[in-house]
Amino acid sequence: MVPGVRLVVLGKQGAGKGTQCVRLSHHYVVPHVSTGDMLRGEVKSRTPLGQRAKALMDQGELISDELVMEMVGLRLREKDTRARGFILDGCPRTIAQAEELADIVAPDHLDLVIDLDVPTAMVLGRLASRRVCMDCGANYSTSSPPLTNWTCDVCGGEVVQREDDTEEAIRRRLELYERQTSPLIDWYQHHDLLMSVDGTGTPDAVTTRCVQAIDDRRTKPVTSP
Ligand code: AMP
Repeated sequence: MVPGVRLVVLGKQGAGKGTQCVRLSHHYVVPHVSTGDMLRGEVKSRTPLGQRAKALMDQGELISDELVMEMVGLRLREKDTRARGFILDGCPRTIAQAEELADIVAPDHLDLVIDLDVPTAMVLGRLASRRVCMDCGANYSTSSPPLTNWTCDVCGGEVVQREDDTEEAIRRRLELYERQTSPLIDWYQHHDLLMSVDGTGTPDAVTTRCVQAIDDRRTKPVTSP
């Protein structure tokens, strides 16, 4: 067991962030904090935040920095994430969110930001066949479905196609990723926190590359941001 890490995973939609974050959270024994899963939970519970977020999410648009970072701040200030760290998935998506995240984490710092690098042509194919559990967010695909009748192997929830995995919403999300999220790669590079990891190949191969990158980094700690 290798406890504790503060990690951000960036990558286009369909790059395999969800799958890798779950695996890394088991390996490092830290919570997987996915803003997409948290927001889908808010929508499902029909909270005021969920009601504001639903239409934007269905169209592939981003939720405001303020709303998202308030939700993330509350989660990252809980006892488990303070003590053990986190694997943050889906956030930050803008430079403003990255700045806010550094403030939330202070006086600690992130260990590493992984950019999971997968060609756009490959993510388009993955997104079209992606299926997810409505309850726990576990990922499946049409070529690798759950064992029984689109019922989640992990929790028994219903496995469906995400409402924002339509062709139009996928196109919009990839466009937003290029415009708003990919500048984060330069930003984190500038802060000497970024490691690009090849996200192609089997999930096991990608996990091995991620663990190697994280462990290499943890032997030479940084102080900013
Ligand atoms: P994901 O599961 O990460 O693809 O997120 C699904 C949707 O949730 C996105 O398309 C956005 O509408 C919203 N969302 C998730 N994380 C963020 C974030 N950090 N900032 C703004 N919107 C977000």
